[in-house]
Amino acid sequence: MSTPKYKRVVLKLSGEALAGDIGYGIDSNVITSFAKQIKEIVELGVEVAVVVGGGNIWRGISGSDRGIDRATADYMGMLATVMNSLALQDALEHMNVPTRVQTSIEMRQVAEPYIRRKAIRHLEKGRVVIFAAGNGNPFFSTDTTAALRAAEIEADVILMAKNNVDGVYTADPSKDENATKYETLTYLEILNKGLRVMDSTASSLCMDNHIPLIVFNISEKGNIRRVVLGEHIGTVVRGSN
Ligand code: UDP
Repeated sequence: MSTPKYKRVVLKLSGEALAGDIGYGIDSNVITSFAKQIKEIVELGVEVAVVVGGGNIWRGISGSDRGIDRATADYMGMLATVMNSLALQDALEHMNVPTRVQTSIEMRQVAEPYIRRKAIRHLEKGRVVIFAAGNGNPFFSTDTTAALRAAEIEADVILMAKNNVDGVYTADPSKDENATKYETLTYLEILNKGLRVMDSTASSLCMDNHIPLIVFNISEKGNIRRVVLGEHIGTVVRGSN
C-alpha cells in the first residue's frame, strides 16, 4: 500500500519537539530525523506545508509572566519560529528536498513573505512550504496558524506531531496510569472537556472549517508516512463522529 490518503497536508511541528531531550533550542539529530520523515511523504507525492512552533526558544506567555508586554513577548515568540523554520529548511535542503520558507512578518533577506497563492504554487511544484512567524499577530499560537493556513490552502488534514505521546489521552499518561487514549474525538469534545490538544481558537477554526486533525507521535520513525498512507495511529479529531 503506497497510495497516500491525503493529497495536501499541513504538518504542525511544535518547538518543543525540535528541542528533543535537550529541552531547549534545536537538536540537530531531531531536526534531521523529522526532515527524513517529511522527505518520505514528499516522495509519495504528498504536498506538504509545515507550521513550526517556537516554544523551544520563547513563548509569549512566559515572557509576559516575567514582565514583558504580552504583545512584545508574542512577537519575540514569532521570531523564534523563524529560527526553527530556517533550521528545518536547512535540514530538508541537505536532503535535496526543495523548500520555501514564507513568513507572516516580512523579512525579505531571510524568507519570502506569506502569499497564499504563491504558497499553493510552490506546493503544486512539489516544494515543501514552511510557514514561519505564526500568523503575524500577537495573542495567537502556531496551532491557530496551522488551522488558518490549512483552511487557506485547502489542506485535507492537519497532522499534529507530538513528542513521545501517541495521541490524546483522558489525562497525562506520564502522571496518571489510568489515562486512556482516545481513538477519535470531535472538536466540541476537545472544547467541552478542556483537553489540551490545541488552544480553543485553533479548535474552533478547525471545527468551523471542517478540517480533520490527526494527533500522533513523531518520535517513532516512519509515523508521518503511516498517517499519510491512512494507517490509524494516534487520535483522529473531526467535526462530528
Ligand atoms: N505566536 C504569536 N502569534 C502567532 C503564533 C505564535 O504571537 O500567530 C507567539 C506566541 O508568543 C507563542 C510563540 O509565538 O507562544 C511560539 O509559538 P507556539 O507557542 O505556538 O509554539 P509551540 O508551542 O508550537 O512550540
